[in-house]
Amino acid sequence: MSARVLVVDDVLVNVKLLEAKLMAEYFDVLSATNAADGIELALTKSPDIILLDVMMPDMDGYEACRQLKENPKTQHIPVIMVTALDQRSDRIRGLEAGADDFLTKPVDDIALFARVKSLVRLKMATDELRARYATGTEMGLISVDIEEVLDNTDSTEILVVEDKPLYAEKIVETLSTNHHVVVESDPREALLRARNQDFDLAIVSLSLEEFDGLRLCSQLRTHEETRQLPILMLVDEEDMPRLVRGLDMGVNDYLTRPIDRNELTARAKTQIQRKRYADKLRDDFQAGLEVAITDQLTGLYNRRYLSSHLENLISKSVESGRSISLLVIDIDHFKIVNDSHGHDVGDEVLKEFARRLSSNVRGIDMACRFGGEEFVVAMPETDVSFAYMVAERLRQEVAEIPFKVKTAEGELNITISIGITDWDGEGDCAEALLKRADQALYKAKRDGRNRVVADAA
Ligand code: GH3
Ligand code: MG
Ligand code: MG
Repeated sequence: MSARVLVVDDVLVNVKLLEAKLMAEYFDVLSATNAADGIELALTKSPDIILLDVMMPDMDGYEACRQLKENPKTQHIPVIMVTALDQRSDRIRGLEAGADDFLTKPVDDIALFARVKSLVRLKMATDELRARYATGTEMGLISVDIEEVLDNTDSTEILVVEDKPLYAEKIVETLSTNHHVVVESDPREALLRARNQDFDLAIVSLSLEEFDGLRLCSQLRTHEETRQLPILMLVDEEDMPRLVRGLDMGVNDYLTRPIDRNELTARAKTQIQRKRYADKLRDDFQAGLEVAITDQLTGLYNRRYLSSHLENLISKSVESGRSISLLVIDIDHFKIVNDSHGHDVGDEVLKEFARRLSSNVRGIDMACRFGGEEFVVAMPETDVSFAYMVAERLRQEVAEIPFKVKTAEGELNITISIGITDWDGEGDCAEALLKRADQALYKAKRDGRNRVVADAA
């Protein structure tokens, strides 16, 4: 993995030392010898991670971290505080300032690369989401309310995998003021539960009596349902090699025993917020996508979607050696519906027609509102005679069952006209198919409406 690392330390020797270690592992390294320059580089050179010394003259590391995390332009960049002091209280201060992790001087190589790689990997995953999110926002499709999501940690569910009752008790006591905590001593059960329930965080002990906690972490990363679940490992000081393996397989963070309650609270909170952030981006992106491809009135696909997918559907059908058919449907004298009963009644008719259309086509068919009172259905792997049968059934159902609407009579008689065509062999394309179906529709209208006409070619 290659990434750009920014090192900020007032002592040049420290900078050079970290630079050498990181460059030997092919990281791209930037450096600054004071906090202000560091922040400037963070803004202009978009590093993937920042290693920040705590003790610096002028502005110290805590303040620099706070400023980086307050600025929307830099807040997504992970920060590792590098401290000479191995005091718990300093770690807590760093977490409060928004730091993502700590390293203690002299910096241990294994810990350095494990932390840097794990945080960079995480950042790359969220960068992709942020990029999509930005595009969606520009398209005006997504409403941004990330803050609200992050602040709301009410109903968080935490799964603790720990077989020593005393250890488990301490974790439950610490976290259950703000979260719902479930303890599972059997890792096999834990895996089942995690796959079936939507947890926000898993805390896994690496010192289980009869099971390798790392195996559970690896299984959690393998299964689709739990791949995004943040994992916090509990390790003993002497268990560093296994910790490193855990971080390599994608465990998000760790705590060393004896567990400090404040640190546990802070790290759990960070992981939960990160998950919420990612979930929110994913959900909004999904919702934005749906808005972008759906017709708002009828819930059918919109024209944009059909236009971008029709060519694809055609080549797939042709590859499989089958034909593809296209229906163009238009409601007859729809203008009269609007003129006599108002636009709202017209809308009701469109919605009801869309329902009938959907229930008459198959899952593989793509039904779309092409515009106004015109609809298009693409029917993959279907020849014209089968398409004709479907179209005729739909035409009859529309003509024979009046539409329920909010008028004095309570119902309206509606008819539709349909033009059909199918794939015409090599060289045929979406545009030509649409044109032929449209011509067939035109003929249906000319011949008196309420009928289905197949393209003669
Ligand atoms: P024809 O049988 O030849 O298709 O006649 P028509 O009246 O259906 O066709 P025309 O194209 O003249 O009129 C279509 C009407 O559909 C005009 C337009 O106001 C109306 N329309 C288009 N979109 C909507 C909509 O979203 N809601 C409603 N209520 N009416 C719409
Ligand atoms: Mg019409
Ligand atoms: Mg029309």
